[in-house]
Amino acid sequence: MIVGEQKPVQEILQMVAPHRKFLILGCGTCVKTCFAGGEDEVALLASALRLASRKDGRPVEIEELTVERQCEDAFIAEAAEAVSRNEAVLSLACGAGVQAVARRFPRSPVLPGVNTTFLGVLEHQGLFTEECAGCGDCQLAVFGGVCPFSRCAKKLLNGPCGGSQEGKCEVDPDTECAWHLIIERLSALGRLDQLRAYVPPKNWQTSLSGGPRKLIRKDHVI
Ligand code: SF4
Ligand code: SF4
Repeated sequence: MIVGEQKPVQEILQMVAPHRKFLILGCGTCVKTCFAGGEDEVALLASALRLASRKDGRPVEIEELTVERQCEDAFIAEAAEAVSRNEAVLSLACGAGVQAVARRFPRSPVLPGVNTTFLGVLEHQGLFTEECAGCGDCQLAVFGGVCPFSRCAKKLLNGPCGGSQEGKCEVDPDTECAWHLIIERLSALGRLDQLRAYVPPKNWQTSLSGGPRKLIRKDHVI
């Protein structure tokens, strides 16, 4: 899922300062799971902004709404009336959701309330870890299902750097060494031998380094 965290209230207050009536638009999928932008976060943020604006003597009118996904037009459409009633939209979706909403409503300022951080997993309640850099050419089969592009600080492809201590990365001792995990996993699978094969430098053209990407599923295009 896409992991993000809500921006600090002070930063949000500065962004919404020119508007006296705005919509806080939540997203009920990824950002809900990481407690950044679901219905509960919309309500909490709205309360915080109302209090702060009253304290400043410049009360605001805030409408609250959460749609299932802000990255899909069918769900964005549900916000059309609320958007038309307000001067601006404060979106609590990921960066893709913010842009999709802005595209749909070109006359409304759409402001980002979340810092989109990475593609990751929920390890346990409250802990999310980065697992995928969206490189566009998945090589997990080579590395036993552990991604060195997103999980090794040095993005090493042919073995560890040698600085790891007790399975932790030398760059951040709170993070597991990706290569320690790769070796453990391939050992458990009895496939350690596959690391003898040289892995050539990655072609990053399929990643964002090759420019903004597109995925076309011709079988679904109508
Ligand atoms: S190899 Fe690429 S697509 Fe696969 S997990 Fe790593 S970054 Fe993501
Ligand atoms: S300690 Fe492990 S994860 Fe950290 S940079 Fe070295 S090989 Fe990569």
